[in-house]
Amino acid sequence: MGSLVKCTGCDQRCGTRPIGVYWRWMRSDGVWKKYYTRLCSACYAAKVLPLDMDYTGVARLTCPSCGIDTEDDYDGIYSTSFPGSREQVEVEAPFCSVHAAEYRIWVTAHAQERIDVDGAPEPHQHERRPEQVLRDLGRVP
Ligand SMILES: [Zn+2]
Ligand SMILES: [Zn+2]
Repeated sequence: MGSLVKCTGCDQRCGTRPIGVYWRWMRSDGVWKKYYTRLCSACYAAKVLPLDMDYTGVARLTCPSCGIDTEDDYDGIYSTSFPGSREQVEVEAPFCSVHAAEYRIWVTAHAQERIDVDGAPEPHQHERRPEQVLRDLGRVP
């Protein structure tokens, strides 16, 4: 069965339901930016999974794109995603400034919507109640 929802990464219907991915990072002026993308499994594998690195213990932080040491100065990009039956996946990526900028450009170009409330998509502003729809159609109940 296909999906009615297009992947916002490659702009195609990819056969399976896209994975919801929330992105956030702090801008240089201290404002948190938040975005939401829906990615097919191919785009998810290309864009999110590489960021899921293991930095436990004494491992030094490295940029996921170029491998440069970012232990002392990184530009973090954070994402939360819900890939199917798996549990929620939290990713924190310590990018170098060059690749953080590159990644942020990709995310903002493919984001479907901006989020105001942490972790939740914006509510639909123009949702009409059923009675309103009837009235608009000239059928006053
Ligand atoms: Zn895709
Ligand atoms: Zn880098």
